[in-house]
Amino acid sequence: MEKVYDTKKHCNGCGVCAKICPVNAIKMLEDSEGFKYPQIDPELCTDCGLCQTKCSAKSELKKVEGNFYAVRCNDEELLRKSTSGGAFSLIAEEVINEGGIVCGAVFDENFKVKHILSEDISKMRKSKYVQSDLDDCFDKIKVELESGRKVLFSGTPCQCHSLKVFIGENDNLIIVSIICRGVHSPLLWEEYKKYIKGNDELKAYDFRDKRRRNDAHTIAYTVGDKETAVTMSEDSFSKIYNKCLSYRPSCYDCKYCSADNDFDFTIGDFWGIEKFMPDLYDGKGTSLVITHSENAEKIIQHVKEKATVIECTKEQAEQTALKECAKESILRKLLFKDLGESQDGNKIPLILKKYGQ
Ligand SMILES: Cc1cc2nc3c(=O)[nH]c(=O)nc-3n(C[C@H](O)[C@H](O)[C@H](O)COP(=O)(O)OP(=O)(O)OC[C@H]3O[C@@H](n4cnc5c(N)ncnc54)[C@H](O)[C@@H]3O)c2cc1C
Repeated sequence: MEKVYDTKKHCNGCGVCAKICPVNAIKMLEDSEGFKYPQIDPELCTDCGLCQTKCSAKSELKKVEGNFYAVRCNDEELLRKSTSGGAFSLIAEEVINEGGIVCGAVFDENFKVKHILSEDISKMRKSKYVQSDLDDCFDKIKVELESGRKVLFSGTPCQCHSLKVFIGENDNLIIVSIICRGVHSPLLWEEYKKYIKGNDELKAYDFRDKRRRNDAHTIAYTVGDKETAVTMSEDSFSKIYNKCLSYRPSCYDCKYCSADNDFDFTIGDFWGIEKFMPDLYDGKGTSLVITHSENAEKIIQHVKEKATVIECTKEQAEQTALKECAKESILRKLLFKDLGESQDGNKIPLILKKYGQ
């Protein structure tokens, strides 16, 4: 076999094919845009086809209609530390209280985005708009499940689907899919970090800061002792994201832009809440939570003890990322061409100026 995927738009980089290859013929390698893809060693490949059968791009996702809720945690401190209404933490705490473990996306010590397994979810909070490296998390999840432990996985819908195909049905696995419009290239993020930190140390980065009570539409980061906080509409790096110029190719052909799926939960920002729950429109954030399973419904009933939970309709919860996927602009190719010529962040000012207007 030459390739696991037919086009890059059909590979989300989950790495399941590499994990299950019986002769270790597949390696996950970064391309020139910084996204990982499987590469087959033709010398080792026996054409068994297993990689094809476990590829989520080739597997149908069941469309299950869910129940819709607006959720906001009562704990003001937790609300401040969360991107939306704190739904992720509320759900994760239920699983941890039952002896479970959580897998979610964190910044590592170099502010690379990666998934880890832990009972401590503090670093998993907050959206990081860069593709997260799943590393060996799926194998670790399998081991935990085999020991009879509950595991909560939270990630983008494509990651959730890959995990579901890898593990199969398992009542102890709770899958929380994040509503997602697309993920920034890890390479662009690396170069951008080099640029903003210069010779100093990047100490903090928050894609969704809430201090200005503007529904977390502020970016805040600290380099050395200096903190910078700008609204997304003033921030060129955010504008590149919002214009969908830096996403993984599969984001432009995403089959998960729907409110219906068979994960346990779908969570996101409750955009448009001002139209029918004006009391919750105060810039502190509210989560949209969709439950698709009995397990999820049980958890949401427990969550009511620690949060405002209001049932709502599918129409009230509508937003673009649940209807259609991001459109690819001709500028995307040009951006990555410019990035390819960049060294040590020196092209980043040009990229920000050219594409982040
Ligand atoms: C790339 C991306 C795009 C998004 N796009 C939308 C959108 O279009 N519409 C919308 O309503 N919501 C979107 N969200 C979701 C939203 O920003 C919040 O993450 C979500 O509402 C959860 O908020 P919270 O307060 O419950 O949780 P928080 O406590 O803030 O938890 C954040 C959760 O997101 C996960 N996460 C963070 N970064 C990543 C990553 N890079 N990859 C995978 N998982 C990650 C963590 O594991 C954690 O579970 C997006 C999130 C991401 C990461």
